[in-house]
Amino acid sequence: MASKNKNWEYAPSLESTEHITLKKRYDLFINGKWVKSASNKYFKSINPNDEKVIAEISHANQRDVNRAIEAARNAYTKVWSKMPANERGKYIYRIARLMQERSRELAVIESLDAGKPIRESRDIDIPLACNHFFYYAGWADKLDYAFPNRQISPLGVAGQIIPWNFPILMAAWKIAPALATGNTVVLKPAETTSLSALKLAEIIQDSGLPEGVVNIITGYGDTGAAIVNHPDVNKIAFTGSTGVGKIIQKSIAGSEKKATLELGGKSANIIFDDAPLDQAVEGIVNGIFFNQGHVCCAGSRLFVQEGISEKVIRKLKHRMKSLVVGNPLDKNTDVGAINSKEQLDIINKYIKIGKKEGAEIHQSACSLPSKGYFCPPTIFTNVAQSSVIVQEEIFGPVLTIQTFRTVDEVIQKANNTPYGLAAGVWTDKGSRIFNLTTKLKAGVVWANTYNKFDPSSPFGGYKESGFGREGGLHGLSAYLKLT
Ligand code: ADP
Repeated sequence: MASKNKNWEYAPSLESTEHITLKKRYDLFINGKWVKSASNKYFKSINPNDEKVIAEISHANQRDVNRAIEAARNAYTKVWSKMPANERGKYIYRIARLMQERSRELAVIESLDAGKPIRESRDIDIPLACNHFFYYAGWADKLDYAFPNRQISPLGVAGQIIPWNFPILMAAWKIAPALATGNTVVLKPAETTSLSALKLAEIIQDSGLPEGVVNIITGYGDTGAAIVNHPDVNKIAFTGSTGVGKIIQKSIAGSEKKATLELGGKSANIIFDDAPLDQAVEGIVNGIFFNQGHVCCAGSRLFVQEGISEKVIRKLKHRMKSLVVGNPLDKNTDVGAINSKEQLDIINKYIKIGKKEGAEIHQSACSLPSKGYFCPPTIFTNVAQSSVIVQEEIFGPVLTIQTFRTVDEVIQKANNTPYGLAAGVWTDKGSRIFNLTTKLKAGVVWANTYNKFDPSSPFGGYKESGFGREGGLHGLSAYLKLT
């Protein structure tokens, strides 16, 4: 659906779905085979663009979790931990290449199931997911160089639980380093976005990876909790909400399970008056509106230096006019569908709270599709540091805008949140960038850019955004015993 502004109406340019194959029903991928769940229960995966059912997904119960973890343990002791590291690496390379070959199919499935614009899934999610496998494949036989003079050994079985915002990318972030370091895996995707992980299971089967090294099981929070609480899991890798992260931390307290938790965020994007303003405005849009704000490190709190605030807001409003909200499979779409009805309700609840708190709202003047779950890009000005919409994670295309005068003031405001995942700084001065990167309590600080990822750079949070790092050397050490 194009914007109401006539200048920005494009003829639809829909990506074809003819080249993809999807089963009507998906079972569980355990020990290299597709097996029926002991629960015999299925739930529906819905296309958030048209609210139609795409496929039915198995709901794994405790018995299924036991089966998957047993398969992973057997594969670990009998095959994977004994395999020469360079052989392990070859399998990971093979998975990466097969993913690349099927990248078009993966991108379309990701956009259908998760609602993200095809431009994002095709140009960002899938290439980055492939790159993670390539990157960690390269490390598999070089671990001694990564950690010189240390004794290294894998942890064993890793239980991995991922969210719905970057389904296949999160699966890659979890599986690739675990395999490179000699661990075996039981992975559970989020209930609303299981399909790309199940496609990855097909690729893993095609790659000839020994049975049981990667098991992919589907289900809700109860399935995730059964993985976390299973006594034979050595490591939990979780990405998701801070609420569930806290539950997981409590459940594993006192056990020997190692954990990395990547949780929520309320990241600050800071624009100084010497910043290149047009690029900064594009960075703001990229940080919060592309991908519907479904990014844990979304730049959802904008801080603009007082003297340029009017100009920046004017430019931002102008840019918002040209954002195309609509069918995720349309190549013109900038802002796709909100992942689920539940998430749309949460976002709308926060928009109501913002209005009630007295903030001034401005939304893109675009017409929304009549079906599906959509939210127009939204900004709030006149907000206070204590406003609920400034403090709490919204996980949608909703931006709060505050102004500041001095560097110290903006550092204090930016750090005044329970979270600490990411931040962006826009300025011409290198010294100012260095000053802020050391003082902002955020795992990642981008300078004159936003939302840029690379497999070689670590990612993770401070405070209630979690602990542990994924990516780079740090991502390897999270799956190793180092003595
Ligand atoms: P979000 O708010 O991003 O959906 P959640 O934390 O609810 O994040 O979900 C992230 C992942 O955690 C999903 O795969 C979900 O099924 C799983 N999950 C939800 N509750 C639990 C739990 N109590 N224990 C383990 N995993 C859970």
